[in-house]
Amino acid sequence: MARADSNHIPLGGLSGHEGRSRPVSGMPVGTEALPPVLTAWHSFVFLAEVDDFATLRRAVGIARAAAVPEDVSARIAAAIPAIRVAPVGRGAIELGFAGESAAAGPRMLERIHAAMAPAFDLDGETYRLSLRIGGVGAEAAEHDDVRLIEAAEEALSDARQANADVLRHLNDPVAGHDPIQLMRELPAAIESGQIFLQYQPKVRVRQQCVASAEALVRWRHPTRGLILPGDFIEAAERSNAIGALTLWIIRRVILDQRAIAAAGYDIPIFINISGVLLSDPGFVRDACALVRGGDARVGFEITETAVIRDPESAIANLRAFADIGVPLAIDDYGAGLSSLAYLKRLPASELKIDKLFVTQLTSSNRDPLIVRSTIDLAHALDMEVTAEGVETPAALALLGVMGCDMVQGYLISRPVEFAAFRTFLQEKRHVAAMASPRLSFLRNEGQWKTG
Ligand code: C2E
Ligand code: CA
Ligand code: CA
Repeated sequence: MARADSNHIPLGGLSGHEGRSRPVSGMPVGTEALPPVLTAWHSFVFLAEVDDFATLRRAVGIARAAAVPEDVSARIAAAIPAIRVAPVGRGAIELGFAGESAAAGPRMLERIHAAMAPAFDLDGETYRLSLRIGGVGAEAAEHDDVRLIEAAEEALSDARQANADVLRHLNDPVAGHDPIQLMRELPAAIESGQIFLQYQPKVRVRQQCVASAEALVRWRHPTRGLILPGDFIEAAERSNAIGALTLWIIRRVILDQRAIAAAGYDIPIFINISGVLLSDPGFVRDACALVRGGDARVGFEITETAVIRDPESAIANLRAFADIGVPLAIDDYGAGLSSLAYLKRLPASELKIDKLFVTQLTSSNRDPLIVRSTIDLAHALDMEVTAEGVETPAALALLGVMGCDMVQGYLISRPVEFAAFRTFLQEKRHVAAMASPRLSFLRNEGQWKTG
């Protein structure tokens, strides 16, 4: 990625030291010696992407869209003189600034979004543009340019995945995610609303309707920014906090499912259940009680590896869930240990092929064979098949031809917060997401097979 000139920026209102120039990163600049007190200054690098750039490009054309980052940069530079801004291509912008403390990061994030609020005039047409931002801050003396830009790239990638801004501070222990500290904070985080869910739909390929959704947990940490489940679920499993967390998630999902059902979309919502909980009788009892009294359609996703660990009690508990009407899906199929002997005994109605095989589907020789035979195996065991990680129309088309029942992935929708999920259902956004010239072939195939 091209780097903008990063030598000096005026600190302006950010610094409280108006009129002086400071380096934006920790690299020594020129011969200017920093007074010792300023070694604790914080450098920030943000990478921002214009949201839904592909749609914008379709609307305004390639050439005009390519120039949009220039418009955005000019807007931000005019609104916030203390920031250094440079378009870096493909709808992306790099921003650099310095601040007196780590708190300057979240403040700047707000100012940037505020600057973007007024509509843009693109060749006489009005467009509202928003940014998705991944950013990092670090004590200026401790990190160099390369480290900062790499960490910002990582933050932007996580922000894309989470569909929310991600801001990290490299001097914060959570940059390496201190699990013990996180677990200490988890109960209060649940209480205070920092833990929240995003929902990602699973869509039927042939019927083109939303079959169900999956709830994915996130932690909006007040100082550490957004933390994804990959960074705290394992710690929660090890510290026994996972039971309380999962029961909270079940309660939240029950409320949300009832709300969408009342709005006319009575689809089940699936919750990920950690393997360790499958042999915890207390959890199984509490979860069953919640679901039975919940008056909502809730399903569970479990991994097969979890069952192999303690098969007898896991299978008995899964039966208990199935007996009270909880549909079960086998998650991450193909990624961990698999055993046909257990697969046959699980009371599951759905098998989810791990995204590892799906994202490579159209570029590898081996994966289509694995996916195809997994679909046939699941059907032979009377299970429906979901492919997760469907990112491209080509993968969707191939999966449809292979007889895959349901798809889930960024192509259809990223995981989104509840309000956005409800809008997704109301506006039937999956239809546009699945509409692609390649798919008319698939629809014909479907009619031919069932007709
Ligand atoms: P998972 O159950 O396999 O969830 C799917 C993951 O793939 C999610 O990551 C989702 O955001 C991501 N994903 C969805 N579509 C695509 C796509 O098209 N391409 C790619 N590359 N990725 C896609 P996330 O939310 O970070 O969750 C990671 C894992 O954390 C989950 O994997 C699940 O094992 C665990 N997890 C999430 N929520 C919970 C929870 O409430 N309880 C438990 N025990 N585990 C959870
Ligand atoms: Ca899952
Ligand atoms: Ca999965």
